[in-house]
Parts: sequence; structure tokens; C-alpha cells
Amino acid sequence: MKYITRFAPSPTGNLHLGHLYSASLAMQAAKETGGIFLLRLEDIDGGRCHPEYEQGIYEDLSWLGFKWEEPVRRQSDHMEDYAALISRLSDRGLIYPCFCTRREITAEIARSNSAPHGPEGPAYPGICKGLTDRDRQRNFQFTKPYALRLNMDNAIANLDLTSLRFHEQDKGYIQCDPLPFGDVVLARKETPTSYHLSVTFDDAIQGVNHIIRGQDLLPSTHIHRLLQALLELPTPSYHHHGLISDGKGRRLSKRDKDATIKSLREYGYQPEEVRKMVRYG
Ligand code: GLU
Repeated sequence: MKYITRFAPSPTGNLHLGHLYSASLAMQAAKETGGIFLLRLEDIDGGRCHPEYEQGIYEDLSWLGFKWEEPVRRQSDHMEDYAALISRLSDRGLIYPCFCTRREITAEIARSNSAPHGPEGPAYPGICKGLTDRDRQRNFQFTKPYALRLNMDNAIANLDLTSLRFHEQDKGYIQCDPLPFGDVVLARKETPTSYHLSVTFDDAIQGVNHIIRGQDLLPSTHIHRLLQALLELPTPSYHHHGLISDGKGRRLSKRDKDATIKSLREYGYQPEEVRKMVRYG
């Protein structure tokens, strides 16, 4: 099978060795199977993404010797696509507006000490789920900012959950269990989409059939698999790889300046030396 893989960084900081590892695995898998390696910029978060980081991604990857298919998909160029998906889900009663602030949610969770805990933290306690139409209209009138949440109960009502699963490399099929996540946000207050919605749609529209990314994103795949079912999108296979850590066993992050490709480049390392650091020389 020819793998269509992708590397999908968010331009919110400089790339580090962890990114290089992920991108290398994705490129290798495409190469070995005669497939295609794609680059996608996940820049839906206008407040945190910067053009200089976007430029840095191109520079670092080119310097390291990566080649990718053009054109590169930039998520911020496709906001209407995501808004159309939201409308489709909304028409089926699968979405509701949530006017809560973070503080209100935290307070409600603290009050009701039985709030279920999902893989991404405590599930939303459902404050806005039961709002009457009148309350909703009033909030709209007062232009209260709102996010759009998936109505998990309605979403799974007509699905045979036992048939939802995804294939994870070295593990086999994993049964999809989206319930513990609760009513996840599908469109944030400041943008008509969310990570879950845009990543699921983009992988499908770009024909990605094998997703390689860090194991920190494995839990999210349960939501992505559910969205694939709701939006009738194909299900790729997955490989959630281990995360690269620093010398002290801590996971690398964008704050680890010494491990960024840019700083290694500036210290005078050669591309093959840097590639070897993640054992891809
Ligand atoms: N954009 C995400 C990140 O930079 C990766 C998303 C994914 O690979 O699914 O962490």
C-alpha cells in the first residue's frame, strides 16, 4: 500500500528535534511505499501563529533535506470549509452554542464533584446544553461570545459504537471510545473551527491514509474517528510514535531553545548531524 503521509506543524514556535523525528518517520513511510509526503500548516490559532515561524518551518525542513508536495495546505485559507462542516453537523442537531467562560466551567466542575474526567481533562459539565431557545436568543442578542460544542449524546445516538475502531501500528485495532471526552469544542469562540475538526477534515480531503504523529495525540484519535463516522470520511491507519525527550528524560517542547533546529543550525551543526540526533542520518 502506498502511504500518503503528512507532517502538520503549527507555526507557533520553532521546530525542535521532536518535530524532526515525526516528520522523518512520515517521510520515510511515504518513501518506502512509493507514496507521497505532504506538509500542512495548522495555523487556525491566529493569536499564537506567526509568519516568522511559518517561514522557519520551510527553512528548517529545506535545510534538513525534506521535499514535500506543493501546494502546501494552510488551514487559515480554508475557514469556509470548516464553517460548512459545522453547518452540516448543526443541521442534524449535533452542535450547540456554549457561552461559558473558562472560569464558569471550572467553578461548575468544582461545585459538582462528580464531573466525569476525560482524557483531555474534566469533561464539560453541560451548562449550556440545557439552555432554552429564549436564553440562547438573548445571549446572541447581547453578542455574548460563544463556542460550538458537539452534542455527544446526539452524536452517538444513531451510531453503532462497537463498529468504530482504528488501526494503530504495532497495537492492532483499537476500539473507539469517544464518550469520556464529553461535549468537545468543535468551533472555538475566536475561530469557526478547532483542532479536532480541521485535522480530521484535512486528512480526509488530502487523501492522507497513514497518520504519523506523537503519542500525546493518541487520545484525540477517538474524537477524530467519531467525526469521520459523522461526516462520512474515510479512516486512515495510525502510528502514534514515542516522544523524544531531553537528556533528563523530559519531553521536548517549543520552550527548549537548545533543541530547536534553528539553534542547532546556528551552532554550526550540519544537516546530517542533526538528522542523526533522531537516528535518521
Ligand atoms: N498541529 C499539531 C501540532 O503541531 C499536530 C497535529 C497532528 O499531527 O495531528 O502539534
